Amino acid sequence: MQKIQNFINGEYIDPIKGNYIDNVDPGTGKVFASIPNSTQEDLEKAVSASQCAFPEWSSMAADKRSRILHKLADLIEDNLEELARMESRDNGKPFWLAKAVDIPRASANFRFYASAIVNFSSEAQVSEGFMVNYTRRAPLGTVGCISPWNLPLYLFSWKIAPALAMGNCVIAKPSELTPMTAYMLGELSKEAGMPAGVLNILHGEGKGIGQAIVEHTATKAISFTGGTATGKIVGATASQQFKKVSLELGGKNPNIVFSDCDLEEAVKTSVKSSFTNQGEICLCGSRILIEDAIYDEFKEKFVKECQKLVVGDPSDDNSNLGALVSESHLQKVDSYVKLAIEEGGRILHGGNRIEKDGFYYEPTVIEGLDENCRTNLEEIFGPVVTLNRFKDENEAIRISNSTRYGLSCTIWTSDLKRAHRVSHAVQSGIIWVNCWLVRDLRTPFGGMKDSGIGREGGNEALRFFSEPQNVCIKL
Ligand code: NAP
Repeated sequence: MQKIQNFINGEYIDPIKGNYIDNVDPGTGKVFASIPNSTQEDLEKAVSASQCAFPEWSSMAADKRSRILHKLADLIEDNLEELARMESRDNGKPFWLAKAVDIPRASANFRFYASAIVNFSSEAQVSEGFMVNYTRRAPLGTVGCISPWNLPLYLFSWKIAPALAMGNCVIAKPSELTPMTAYMLGELSKEAGMPAGVLNILHGEGKGIGQAIVEHTATKAISFTGGTATGKIVGATASQQFKKVSLELGGKNPNIVFSDCDLEEAVKTSVKSSFTNQGEICLCGSRILIEDAIYDEFKEKFVKECQKLVVGDPSDDNSNLGALVSESHLQKVDSYVKLAIEEGGRILHGGNRIEKDGFYYEPTVIEGLDENCRTNLEEIFGPVVTLNRFKDENEAIRISNSTRYGLSCTIWTSDLKRAHRVSHAVQSGIIWVNCWLVRDLRTPFGGMKDSGIGREGGNEALRFFSEPQNVCIKL
């Protein structure tokens, strides 16, 4: 059985207290590795390594840092197959998906910020004959990056790439459920020429080492992606020390289908936005809102497509869906399906665990629920969608905005004016019109309401990981 280590000061080392936790393969339900359950002692080591590395890394010319990050992006591409295989085994997602999306996007994150940092400029204001103001953007020092299990390397790299590009040193923690690709990244960063101590990766439990990273006075900013309940704790802890904090949290995203849409396209993409990655993407559209006039037609076509989905071994290229990440997550998903039935929902497809080793669940489609029932308000984060009717645009907007979340929304319509109108009325940080999950990394990314605070992506992230200093010179 594989035993992985922390990556501190450019070296793989055992956790100081020698505590480990099991890492389970969701595809088989069997333990396949053990990972450090890091403690304060490991964190202190990582903090001192990062503080020693900071002067050299932060003063290194941006184009030199850029070359190291480009090299890291190259190495991720060179190791695509192995990383994708590990990610699939760790998370339960199909190998083909990890190979086509997760790992290429992780490489793209490093490449994007390797380029962004050499094009990043700060502002200057000239008051003719009086003064010149310019704003220097200084890196913060040591920063903490904490990521979830659903898109392991992709979300991990999305945080650490801008932090490193800006000249910060990083202490990062992947989810204890999916540590393997972050573990592999340590070695690749070394091969890319990253100086020791710049990137430190600690494994272990969120409540233990995750909380300790947030609490430590040395971490000057916390970039966190995860659930809203955890985000609340992280935000409250970080604010005690006035730390900068970015929270990317949960969602209950509406997928609004108007009767004037391209129905074939709406159905095809809605199947993907409901069930890609077993529905374990924060941006999945878990509430499909359908205009009355096409409700029956959409339903029939959608359910027919869902019936074709294959749930199976993550290593099999024919599997559309793999396994859910853990037994406890599967239990949570199943409990919501049972709740939906109690709440008066009718199961149109799925609704059951698949009886084999591992954590497999059928893609599940439910209709007939009240818009205000728990199934329609709470994040399930699995392969479960509800179909809901609406009469007109106002009702679609009202239902869309009826949850505490505001992460993303998809709108299907051929009416350009309506597309703009509804986009501006829905309370979502990310809106897709006639598409889903496409994105330009320069755009700000994040949610409204309980889906988080701050925005990641593009220059927003470089600003987050830096401190502005205004310098005023009298002319
Ligand atoms: P989670 O339980 O909140 O955990 C997220 C990360 O935080 C994990 O690394 C976790 O460690 C760690 N953690 C737990 N308690 C902590 C604490 N007190 N202090 C510091 N760190 C702590 O979320 P998850 O179940 O991994 O991920 C699913 C959630 O993430 C969903 O709600 C989903 O919508 C959200 N998400 C949001 C986005 C976005 O961009 N908005 C993207 C992806 C996912 P352990 O794993 O060891 O507990």
